[in-house]
Amino acid sequence: MSHGAALQAAQDAGLAWTLEHAARGSSWWREHFAQAGVDVATLAGAGELARLPFTTKQDLRDAYPLGWLCVPEADVRRIHGSSGTTGKRTVCAYSAQDLDDWAEAFARCFRYAGVVPDDRVQVMVGYGLWTAGIGFQSGVERLGAMAVPTGPGNVDFQLEVMEDLASTVICSTSSFALMLAEAVAERGMRNALHLKTAIIGSERWSDGVRARIEAALGVESFDIYGLTELYGPGMGIDCHRHEGIHVWSDLYIVEIIDPDTLEGLPPGAEGEIVLTTLRKEAMPLIRYRTRDRSWLYPEPCGCGSPYPRIGRLLGRTDDMVKVRGVAVFPAQVDSVLSTFDAAGPEYQIHVSRVASRDRLAVRVEAVESPELVQSLSERLHHALGVHAAVEIVPPGSLPRSTGKTLRVFDHRLEEGGERG
Ligand code: ZN
Repeated sequence: MSHGAALQAAQDAGLAWTLEHAARGSSWWREHFAQAGVDVATLAGAGELARLPFTTKQDLRDAYPLGWLCVPEADVRRIHGSSGTTGKRTVCAYSAQDLDDWAEAFARCFRYAGVVPDDRVQVMVGYGLWTAGIGFQSGVERLGAMAVPTGPGNVDFQLEVMEDLASTVICSTSSFALMLAEAVAERGMRNALHLKTAIIGSERWSDGVRARIEAALGVESFDIYGLTELYGPGMGIDCHRHEGIHVWSDLYIVEIIDPDTLEGLPPGAEGEIVLTTLRKEAMPLIRYRTRDRSWLYPEPCGCGSPYPRIGRLLGRTDDMVKVRGVAVFPAQVDSVLSTFDAAGPEYQIHVSRVASRDRLAVRVEAVESPELVQSLSERLHHALGVHAAVEIVPPGSLPRSTGKTLRVFDHRLEEGGERG
């Protein structure tokens, strides 16, 4: 059997197991399937996924805390939670096998990034209820490398440990890696460090930010994929070719749908990522709408990996802001800014209503220059399809965050206006 056929057969078997397991293990899932009028036993395979109803973050919230649990509570080994930044917190449960599968998948990510057991991996992400810290840590340990669990924040402390312990790999958000990169450049201490690799997770980041991090720290960077509902980070990563993110199709299936019509989209077309797990015991996902925007590559990667690829995340479907009826995504602003050397990597998008008309402003770090404002605003207008006022602020003045960076500020909401 070819690898492709074997993977297909494994997906069919994994899906059949997941549906049966969910229906047996949880009344929430039984009702969910019954409401949609689907007898899951009649599903012929992964090719018929579209017959199944979607699930959403709201469903998970409504089932809080453990309505989606499909194993006895005594079999739950660990709980993790999502940050709840856009609503009530959700929690996810893990069986012993789930934790094992997650660690194995994470170790695979490290291998794709060229991390070896001799490496010293400084884990600069949050520990606690969040999946990040413990997820990275488990992956490091499964690989057999040395974990240096410094947690997030505190640039001085991080650099000191990095230098003293000769860390070779760092794991962090892109915002924090950028803070480190700026500090290392300022202090001229790049040669005191032994870094070779940065594994960046948990938020979308631009090519411009990536280039700055790589140059200042002297690293090759990798973009790790994952979300709490799907184990956590470690569910995919780019290979050395850096053409998209390989996703572990032995653990889950990726569909791309049109978020408006809910129809499936072909490879190459951009839409919302929908996930279905194949082995997850405690809390399987079945056609779970992530709100993350990406696309599937139509062809296999030149690196020879059997795992399919998605494009680097384009943001979330709910990041979009409508300005005078035109949909504007931070990713579009990102891609324009990354082509301007004179513009800093951080930016903010502000939308307000002036004299009952929407006003879009893009705040950028740069040295004030009328030429820059002129060419930036022309390029933004072309890319966005709507005029944007360019506001220049001094380099380094926009807030850097150790976690997710807020980029879109819709002041129309504060002013009591309606979101277009
Ligand atoms: Zn590849």
